[in-house]
Amino acid sequence: MCNCKQDTESRLVEALAEPDQLPEGATKISARLTGYAMMLGENLMRFRQVMPIEVEFQLPTKAGVMKLKKQKMSMTANYCMFCGEKYE
Ligand SMILES: [Zn+2]
Repeated sequence: MCNCKQDTESRLVEALAEPDQLPEGATKISARLTGYAMMLGENLMRFRQVMPIEVEFQLPTKAGVMKLKKQKMSMTANYCMFCGEKYE
């Protein structure tokens, strides 16, 4: 399991500390990559990248009128987007 999430967050904090990245006087900077889901494995917790999906479809009501419906879903990645390592 790679450490790309933590490594990237660390690099982001370093980059954000450079001049002109954040308003002057900013301190205690933190950055968190949010496109991850925590997966429970055998005695382990792992993070996997997640792609949110917005689904739209027509569905008939009881009266038989078609109505637009929206549903949010997500797709979990099989490989790390930073280094390409396959998730276990
Ligand atoms: Zn990686």
